[in-house]
Amino acid sequence: MPGPGRPSGHFARGYLTEEEKKNRPKVTFALLQRIFAYLKPYWKQMALVLICIVISSSFSLMPSILTGKIIDEGLIGGSMRLLILYIVLSLGLTLGSNLIGVAESYLNTWIAQHIMYDMRNQMFRHLQNMSQRFFTSSNQGDIITRMTSDIDGVQSVIANTYTSILSNVITLSVALIAMFQKNWILALCGIIVIPLFVLPTRMAGRTRWELTQEAQACNDEINGILNETLSVSGQLLVKLFGKEDYEYSRYEQMNRKMIGLNIRERMAGRWFFVIISTFSSIGPMLLYLVGGILMMRYDSSLTVGDITVLVALLGRMYGPVNQLLNIQVDWIRSMALFTRIFEYLDLPVEVKNIRYPVSPKKSRGEVTFEQVWFGYEPDRMILKNINLSLKSGQCIALVGPSGSGKSTIVNLIPRLYDTSKGRVLFDGHDVKKLDLHYLRSHVGVVTQETYLFNASIRDNLLYARPEATEQEMIECCKKANIYDFIRQQPEGFDTLVGNRGLKLSGGEKQRLSIARVLLKDPSLLIFDEATSALDSVSERLIQDAIEPLIKNRTSILIAHRLSTILAADEILVVKEGEIVERGTHDQLVNAGGTYQELYETQFTLPGTGQNGQPYKG
Ligand code: ATP
Repeated sequence: MPGPGRPSGHFARGYLTEEEKKNRPKVTFALLQRIFAYLKPYWKQMALVLICIVISSSFSLMPSILTGKIIDEGLIGGSMRLLILYIVLSLGLTLGSNLIGVAESYLNTWIAQHIMYDMRNQMFRHLQNMSQRFFTSSNQGDIITRMTSDIDGVQSVIANTYTSILSNVITLSVALIAMFQKNWILALCGIIVIPLFVLPTRMAGRTRWELTQEAQACNDEINGILNETLSVSGQLLVKLFGKEDYEYSRYEQMNRKMIGLNIRERMAGRWFFVIISTFSSIGPMLLYLVGGILMMRYDSSLTVGDITVLVALLGRMYGPVNQLLNIQVDWIRSMALFTRIFEYLDLPVEVKNIRYPVSPKKSRGEVTFEQVWFGYEPDRMILKNINLSLKSGQCIALVGPSGSGKSTIVNLIPRLYDTSKGRVLFDGHDVKKLDLHYLRSHVGVVTQETYLFNASIRDNLLYARPEATEQEMIECCKKANIYDFIRQQPEGFDTLVGNRGLKLSGGEKQRLSIARVLLKDPSLLIFDEATSALDSVSERLIQDAIEPLIKNRTSILIAHRLSTILAADEILVVKEGEIVERGTHDQLVNAGGTYQELYETQFTLPGTGQNGQPYKG
């Protein structure tokens, strides 16, 4: 606790930013009740903390009070026995207070950490139930902040707010009672001088805090520059566009601004420290002066020891007064913190898992769309009246211009989103009525953007089915045309793929993710072919992997290459969210519609480098 002459440790905590003032949370009974619900399981430990605080705060003031007795009865009274007794007592009480303080900190941290553990788990579970819409429309940084620093903030709420209020109130009350008991005139003098210390401290705090805020903003900007320029893709961009000098000067400018701010902040702290120390010594001096006058002129019962005690107690009051003045800020901040956390926990779960009592037999992977309408935003329909039916063992190809809604159609099958109107059936059951886990375990998706974890090839493969054997893994990799590549790596299956699989080429990543889906062995396979150009060898390898993949398996291909399209039994042409044509390649080319247009302008063939040439195997 800060005594006189020590700047308060609350520089950073005592003020609200403009934004915090604007977004002051509304504290309702329901909010308090909800916070209380988190504390409730730990009420026994909290009661123990309260007892510890009462004892340790009272004990910690005792040595100051005993100082009077040491001086009056021991030193001036000339009693060696009393002198030793009070010294030992004083030391014992200090030690006792500190030991109880340790127990209190442990309990406090334990409670806070357990509450945070509960909240983090609850939040993680909840976020995992959020739909893709949530993840695509929220800022990723914001999600992480709520999971980490917001919940971490609970620690300081528990450790600072309620315990500090209590210990400060107790310290102040005991100190005041003891002071008034000794001498009411000096006690009043002491109270009068408290603002002389507290006000400059608060002014100092504000200035320093403002500088800290500015430094923080500057620091954020520096971090932004570092993140942008020193990341893998950022550096690539910098190098390719020759922006090294530009980025250096941007960084250098911010770096310079930062040192200026840091110097000012440090010096501001120093100057205010001088002022605060001066003001804080006024209190004791005033007590000595008034005490001396009283003792020498009017009140012979007042002793040197009494005056010393009063001065010591005054010193113990500055810190608590200062901290209690911050309570409102702490309170608003902690309410804001909980409000932010609850805001996320209250986000409705869009794709609800209703465990309908269906007992599906072996899945066939059949899919039916019945008059399906869908929009990412309610007022802008992306899919309009989609009807399709995919029978067991069949393969359909979805083709269409970019942005026509092909990926959106397939997203509705594993319920990444729910339809706005109409039904999607899986094996004849409305997907909304199937257990989500069951549904997703039977739908395998190879997405356009392959996502690999920064782990070994083996770990990435086993993510699909942890219990798969080595032999099954090899089989799937062979089918996906990636086994030879893996075998050539010095570490084989234990080769690390790098951050997001960056150590692999686009084609290798895609083949690996095909192998991963094969290992899952879904009854319905969805393959969203990458639009990005691959060289003819890579394309050929992927092509060879796809054909056995879709043989005897119900599948949907979102195809951009003629060779993939030709592998399907039926082709559906999607345009502006509608299926405008359907049939076989020959039928559609002859019909002379959208498909024919696409065929002539967009479909590419491996190896030919030409568009629109019939595939010759
Ligand atoms: P491509 O062949 O380029 O992958 P696509 O036919 O698969 O295109 P979709 O990805 O289904 O097209 O997108 C259809 C439309 O929906 C586009 O206009 C796109 O901008 C929009 N869209 C896609 N995802 C979202 C999203 N998460 N939120 C809002 N709009 C989206």
